[in-house]
Amino acid sequence: MHSFHYKQVDGRNTLHCEDVDLQALAEEHGTPLYVYSKATILDHYRRLDAALGGRPEGGKSGSSDALVDHLICFAVKANSNLAILNLLDHEGAGFDIVSGGELYRVLRARAEREKEGPASDCTFAGVGKSYEEIKLALNEGIYCFNAESEAEVAYIDSVAGALGKKAPVALRVNPNVDAKTHKYISTGKSENKFGIDFEVVRDAYARAAKLEHITLRGIQMHIGSQLTSVEPFVEAVKKVAPLAEELKSAYGIEFFSIGGGIGIVYQDSLASGEAGWWKQRDSGENTPLTIEKYAQTLVPLLKPLGLRILLEPGRMIVGNAGALVTKVLYEKKGAAKTFEIVDAGMNDLIRPALYEGHHDIVPVTPAPDSQGDGSGSSVPVDIVGPVCESGDFLAQDRVLPPMEQGDYLAVLSAGAYGFVMASNYNSRPLPPEILVDGGKSRVIRERQTYHDLVRGETIPR
Ligand SMILES: *Cc1c(COP(=O)(O)O)cnc(C)c1O
Repeated sequence: MHSFHYKQVDGRNTLHCEDVDLQALAEEHGTPLYVYSKATILDHYRRLDAALGGRPEGGKSGSSDALVDHLICFAVKANSNLAILNLLDHEGAGFDIVSGGELYRVLRARAEREKEGPASDCTFAGVGKSYEEIKLALNEGIYCFNAESEAEVAYIDSVAGALGKKAPVALRVNPNVDAKTHKYISTGKSENKFGIDFEVVRDAYARAAKLEHITLRGIQMHIGSQLTSVEPFVEAVKKVAPLAEELKSAYGIEFFSIGGGIGIVYQDSLASGEAGWWKQRDSGENTPLTIEKYAQTLVPLLKPLGLRILLEPGRMIVGNAGALVTKVLYEKKGAAKTFEIVDAGMNDLIRPALYEGHHDIVPVTPAPDSQGDGSGSSVPVDIVGPVCESGDFLAQDRVLPPMEQGDYLAVLSAGAYGFVMASNYNSRPLPPEILVDGGKSRVIRERQTYHDLVRGETIPR
């Protein structure tokens, strides 16, 4: 489903998130501004859960009558706002975390719930877990540490021993499969820093099994992010499944985590009056990978294993649920290019600079004479931010309708790896985040103030 679309308000076409007018929202809260759709997040989560066979009434994921016994662990790093985590928690999601800070966020998001072991459906990923982080996770009863090296397994064993506990561990296997995605978000090849090489992981399990304070609970893999076809997933599952079976009989492991990485559609301008990128996605055009295709292809390969299947989607749940709204400050016609200077910079959304990430950018309130969808435009422009870096752009050579100072633009598909990667570079306060639910909008994170910028700093006397 899509939740960003144009609607007529007082005779003008204005971009809405669900039933909320983004022009009005930007005027009320200022820009830059992150806006998320609750309905889209829920739709994505529920569709994935349903495609895996759903769960019993009022129960957690993992029913026996599901197509496959499963647990969806939302990858917190994609969007870690407490309100978003709380929303997914209420849907029955577990969480995949990569730091003590993310675990803290999950605990806070769940604070009001009476739940045994608030981390009992959380997995702890990442190549560099520290002593403090391991201790915190053990004390909170983490479901599993997904370990990425033998040195880490040995260290977790020693920390668990010192605390008089047994640590649940899965090894992350690097299946050496090409995810065919951007090199910075590819993780499943031998030359990446992630996981333990497929060829040696059996021996690593054998050695880990001898450690006194370790319980071998599962096996994990994650081959990359923003995958746009199902084939690399199939290749990796086919490669690792026999190993998972073997480890199940040898050590009694209970789960196989197939990681995250489902790609989303970033590129397709809004068609007139509709969110084109979603329409295309749902109709299967230009969308090699849908939630349903992913599940329908993989479930038959996974079900026979008789293991609990863990999934760690991040981008797929929240990516297309968010937009970054920004204001045009100045137009600058250079000798070679025209620049539209906007008030959101690489510190607010770094994906274009970091990964050459594409985001569709559309006018919030198109001029009445334009087509209302970005067509009818003339010269390509660069949309750049105020940050003092040449890499500070949101789009380059983009054909957009003519715009004026003060116009608002929406940078689409910014719900994942957007705000979470924002920084204070150039001493720019972090933007606010807003969650839209139907016609209501809630501030789920306030805009930072200048005072926030210097909090904790002191001048030595
Ligand atoms: C980042 C990450 C994910 C989530 O990836 P998406 O592409 O956002 O789905 C899942 N698992 C691990 C181990 C990760 O590092």
